[in-house]
Amino acid sequence: MTTHKIALLGGDGIGQEVTPEARKVLEVVGRATGASFEFEAALIGGAAIDATGEPLPASTLRLCEQSDAILFGAVGGPKWDALPQEQKPERGLLGLRKELDLFANLRPAKCFPMLLDASPLKREVVEGTDIMVIRELTGGLYFGEPRGREEFADGGARAVNTMAYTSREVERVARAAFDVAMKRKKRLASVDKANVLVVSQLWREVVTRVGKDYPQVALEHVLVDNCAMALVHKPTHFDTIVTENTFGDILSDEAAILAGSMGMLPSASIGGRVGLYEPVHGTAPDIAGQGVANPIAAILSAAMLLRYSLSLGADADRIDSAVIRVLEQGHRTRDVHAAGTTLVGTKEMGDLISAEVEKSYS
Ligand code: NAD
Repeated sequence: MTTHKIALLGGDGIGQEVTPEARKVLEVVGRATGASFEFEAALIGGAAIDATGEPLPASTLRLCEQSDAILFGAVGGPKWDALPQEQKPERGLLGLRKELDLFANLRPAKCFPMLLDASPLKREVVEGTDIMVIRELTGGLYFGEPRGREEFADGGARAVNTMAYTSREVERVARAAFDVAMKRKKRLASVDKANVLVVSQLWREVVTRVGKDYPQVALEHVLVDNCAMALVHKPTHFDTIVTENTFGDILSDEAAILAGSMGMLPSASIGGRVGLYEPVHGTAPDIAGQGVANPIAAILSAAMLLRYSLSLGADADRIDSAVIRVLEQGHRTRDVHAAGTTLVGTKEMGDLISAEVEKSYS
């Protein structure tokens, strides 16, 4: 029997509260299927700074490199806000992404039928929305050279950033996106600004070429301005979207808000040998320690881990369905609580979902 080694990095704040619930659900899958999960916890972020002086201790990085996947919580909090940029808890996560070469960020935006009224869009517009945005994470405008600022003698200034991509960088994220599209509805929208930007023309050329290797996937090219409009006008048009770093940063947040609450949004960073799975939300210092955080984003991140790192898509489906059933039964954490629903805490929500996952195997 294969043992899947999972590094457990809860981090800070509610990261420490929601990650154990995700682990609980994976353990249910393990017991039901005979798959063997071996969890090992390590420090990252503020907790690691307090214990070792560093946001990403060498031992944590080593554990991650030797694992099959990483289940991550969140890092940061007011306690460490005054530290210099280089020593902040967030450096731990950025360091991990860089060291593990996690160049593709996957962010699903799925509207749960029973939470449609939490969406800022009209019910009939968002109903049925199920999008996966794949954002290139290590290139483009945020990293391109030259970058910097010069001051002029007359008191003015000039600043520059560069949106640069090599064909290799585009090709690898395009392949990751086509692979994801193959596990979904086999429709991929590549988003660029090829009518204006040379870098986007290269992007489009390479994505088109990679697409020849995936004849089953219907590929379309969409200009970023059109995509921004279409996401709020007709979000159900999209299945899988791939785009460069900056466009992806903006569009994935736009898509995310369609789904309603922060506590419901999982994510994955893949590309290197080891994938990292984490809720989109942060450490929520305003509610940390109260046992009220919504663990669904973390639990859905664990489902993504099964699907994308361990190729256990059918078990991931069971988790996704169990979440829907528990919501259908009317259970809600405080962030999505509404009249007529039953308020539950973090652990209780984890238990309810675990029980539904277990039932799905019997
Ligand atoms: P946040 O996501 O932590 O919180 C924003 C709001 O959403 C808060 O009101 C919070 O209570 C609520 N919320 C978030 N997750 C929730 C959940 N699971 N259940 C219920 N409510 C939830 O964002 P923020 O307040 O801007 O940041 C707080 C800290 O988290 C900062 O230190 C920030 O740097 C850090 N952060 C870390 C990550 C990460 O580790 N990937 C991401 C974002 C923010």
